[in-house]
Amino acid sequence: MIAAMPGAISLNTPIEDLHSFKIARLGPVLSHKLAKALAAQTHKKNPAAVTVEDLLNYFPMRYEDRSRPALIKDLHDGVEASLELTVTNAHGYAVRNPRGYGRPQLYIFEVSAIDGPMTGREVIVWWFVSGRRAYDIVKYYTAKLARGTRFITFGRWEFEARRNTYKLRLNNAADELEILLPPGTSEEPAPDEEQAEENLPDPTLAAIHVGRRVPVYRKLGEFNSKRVREIMHAVLTLLNDKTIEETFPADLRHRAKLIGRAQAVDEIHFPPPEVSMSDYEQSKSRAHERMIFEDFFWVTFAIGLKRGQRVKEVKETPLKIDKTVKDHIASVMPFKLTDAQRKVTKQIFRDMQSQAPMNRLLQGDVGSGKTIVAVIAMIAAMENDLQTALMAPTEILAEQHARSIKRLLARTPYRVELLTGSIRAAEKRRLQTALKDGEIDAVVGTQALIQEAVGFEKLGLVVIDEQHRFGVMQRAELRTRGLNPDVLVMTATPIPRSLAMTVYGDLDVSIIDELPPGRTPIETMVFGEDQRQEVKRLIAREVKAGRQVYVVYPLVEESEKMDLKDATRRYEYLRDTVFPKLPVGLLHGKMKPAEKEKVMGAFVAGEIKILVSTTVIEVGVDVPNASVMIVEHAERFGLSQLHQLRGRVGRGAEKSYCILLTSDKKTVNAEERLGIMAKTNNGFVIAEKDLELRGPGELLGTKQSGLPEFRIGNIVRDQALLEKAKQEAEFYLARAKSVVTAKMIVRIKQDPRFGLAAIG
Ligand code: ADP
Ligand code: MG
Repeated sequence: MIAAMPGAISLNTPIEDLHSFKIARLGPVLSHKLAKALAAQTHKKNPAAVTVEDLLNYFPMRYEDRSRPALIKDLHDGVEASLELTVTNAHGYAVRNPRGYGRPQLYIFEVSAIDGPMTGREVIVWWFVSGRRAYDIVKYYTAKLARGTRFITFGRWEFEARRNTYKLRLNNAADELEILLPPGTSEEPAPDEEQAEENLPDPTLAAIHVGRRVPVYRKLGEFNSKRVREIMHAVLTLLNDKTIEETFPADLRHRAKLIGRAQAVDEIHFPPPEVSMSDYEQSKSRAHERMIFEDFFWVTFAIGLKRGQRVKEVKETPLKIDKTVKDHIASVMPFKLTDAQRKVTKQIFRDMQSQAPMNRLLQGDVGSGKTIVAVIAMIAAMENDLQTALMAPTEILAEQHARSIKRLLARTPYRVELLTGSIRAAEKRRLQTALKDGEIDAVVGTQALIQEAVGFEKLGLVVIDEQHRFGVMQRAELRTRGLNPDVLVMTATPIPRSLAMTVYGDLDVSIIDELPPGRTPIETMVFGEDQRQEVKRLIAREVKAGRQVYVVYPLVEESEKMDLKDATRRYEYLRDTVFPKLPVGLLHGKMKPAEKEKVMGAFVAGEIKILVSTTVIEVGVDVPNASVMIVEHAERFGLSQLHQLRGRVGRGAEKSYCILLTSDKKTVNAEERLGIMAKTNNGFVIAEKDLELRGPGELLGTKQSGLPEFRIGNIVRDQALLEKAKQEAEFYLARAKSVVTAKMIVRIKQDPRFGLAAIG
């Protein structure tokens, strides 16, 4: 197979063509695999579209200084160090064999080694090998790490008093242990890797991996850190600096003190010898600053362009909100609004009365009372003879909203209807016609509302509840269907205001920073397996006092079936064995809508006392009488998710409890997370911590929301750079007619991340 000879390599060269540049051990098959692995990383659908630039954007997760490896004699307990070692002995021994027949499935593989100059006693490096193929893998490691083999490894060394030696536990041996091959030889693929067709030796490899500062990458498909490093090094060598085009004007670089793009790309992968490694570890090197700035600059520039576009739009009818309208609203209010609710209502009214369409994000911690604010906005629109739509992320939530809005508006002339995916076809058609004819004033539903071709006679306001499941970009979808209503997006994922402004530059932001009066703080406790009796007593006591309880199970996509089974089994156990005298219910996403509604209805009515459920109740569900939230496998949840779950209780005046059950407190991260939950009830503090621990992508759900993702920037860690980049972006946006800005606009329209191609 001979590929067409491409010209010189450039940032736009497809990864699938990489094999024609004679990179060691990278033929057509592996080039394709690399393209596929990168496609999954970048959410590009088509591997053929993956380019060298995408590869270079696969940044190291950390760095190791191997220019001067440590010596055994330098080790002390708990020190992190990389060592260059020689194997004296390597073997695996079986730990347990649960089935009792066949080959064991769990081994400890242990390597004893010394350093070259023999500066101390032998050290031990070990890891677990598990799974169906454990035996083969152990055999493979034993052969690969024969006595005399040299390798380099990195990690936290611990002193083991019993054996009087230093020990290093590796969790992912393939990533943390690199064998140093004599020049001219090559590695055999591990038995769990597919047989590669190319195996060209490369005598220069050793110089890439040792005796210098090296990048460490996350495994990319079947390419381990070492392989990624080799390929990255080869590509960077092939690309001479001139093929990495500078994208910033010189004066911007000067003002922001940024190094050139080509230099930054080089240095972010391979730190030069003179720079500070601690800067690299904190993502503060000059290479990081340049790349992060670039990341932020283009995103804020794109958002600015979009915003400019919206301000120019004019809606059909600005609303009139006069005393009569306000009186009508006041007449249906079930309680006095908090000051914070009053403040955001004012902001929303101002938007609705203006010419430009509203695009507002309403943030408020769980339980802060966002729903009533949305209903107020809806009434204002309906008083202006406009239709309104409220979209919720789940059917359960849509039903709940429809129920409570109907109740609230019972004495008004407005017709409120529920329209979800599970409504029978004939009924749905009837509702759709009524909607088109303007007979329905407020429609409540799930995504189906927008996705299916639902027409309105005169749509004035769309409210989107719980944005992080949904997307700020849905407005765009409405617009493509010829509708340009006011849009209010509500979210309980509070992010610090300054960040919100920057990230959601396209949205105006309102914040409800106060809870309704009369709430008693929720007490949160982290319990282990051994404390189940206490949990049982607490449940019994609360139910006896007339209260209700949630028991929540995680549902992870990859192990959905197992998780469902877990939840179901636990439900049966609770119902039959633990609380045979109490009504226990089960709720999960795989149930038929009618069943779900029945169970939820029974819980709302207090007929079910203990509700075992998956995370379908995570957002929005409002049953004030529920006072206990028990989260099983709490360590599997993210912080913001736990906070959401906890927000299901503490909605009444009774004291409420949240119990985080964990079977595994071992991971430091999980322990830290759960500790924070126990310490604070403040959603902002939790969100900030979550941002820190998991990064904004997870928290803000950028993947679903359509917000562009930052490649390397972290909006919490790099706030100062974000601010600076935003200022610069605004500087150029303000000079729309300049050649420089025009060039930037051309550039950004070509970047598919921003979906700007259509903007004129
Ligand atoms: P969230 O912001 O999490 O969506 P909800 O809108 O569900 O919160 O409100 C939480 C609870 O607080 C509901 O039971 C609601 O009726 C109640 N509530 C909201 N605002 C007030 C208020 N101003 N005074 C008293 N109760 C309120
Ligand atoms: Mg809500």
